[in-house]
Formats: sequence, structure tokens, C-alpha cells
Amino acid sequence: MHELSVVNSLIELCEKNAKANNAEKITKVEVKIGKLSGIEPHFLKLTFDTFKNKTLCNDAELVMNVQKVVVKCLSCGNEQTLENNEFICKACGGEVRVIDGEDMLLMRLEME
Ligand SMILES: [Zn+2]
Repeated sequence: MHELSVVNSLIELCEKNAKANNAEKITKVEVKIGKLSGIEPHFLKLTFDTFKNKTLCNDAELVMNVQKVVVKCLSCGNEQTLENNEFICKACGGEVRVIDGEDMLLMRLEME
């Protein structure tokens, strides 16, 4: 299960941050989930809520923001969101490169 290893490293990262800030617990975890990351938000939350027990994330609420795929044209530089998996520039038909929406990122932590 992909989500399990994702959650493990997410909790690990949160605890590392909390310890660096001398926090006793984490109350909110905000992540950005790229559409191309292959992570299913529903399963991520389920897995997080199962595995957060006995960690500093025990009382943490997981907030997920789904990030659309953003591409940039290699020819004209136009930045656009990808609507239907057509990896070509809407403006000039050129080749595009993905610049956002591929990964899951930890955006913000609230801790006490
Ligand atoms: Zn273009």
C-alpha cells in the first residue's frame, strides 16, 4: 500500500519538525497532494488517522489540499493547468514540462 509508506514518512517528518521546535504535540498537519502523485486523499486520511496514535501527531487534524497539475511550455513559456492529460501547450501546441502537481508536500504544521 503506497499510502502507508507515505504516511510513515509524513509522521516522521512532522515529529522531526516538532522536536526541532520543542513542541509537545502537533495539532494540525497541512499537506498539498499533487494530482499526479498517485495518492488517494481518502486513503491517505484513513491511513494517517490509523497510524498517528502514539506519535506526536496523535491529536493532529490532517488538512489536504489537492494540487492541480501545472505545466510550463518549453517553447513559449506559457504556464497553464493541465485539464485532460494532454501534455501540449494550449497557446502554441508546444511541448510542456510539469512544474507542479507531481508530489505530496508538507505545507504547514501547527504545534503546541
Ligand atoms: Zn507554448
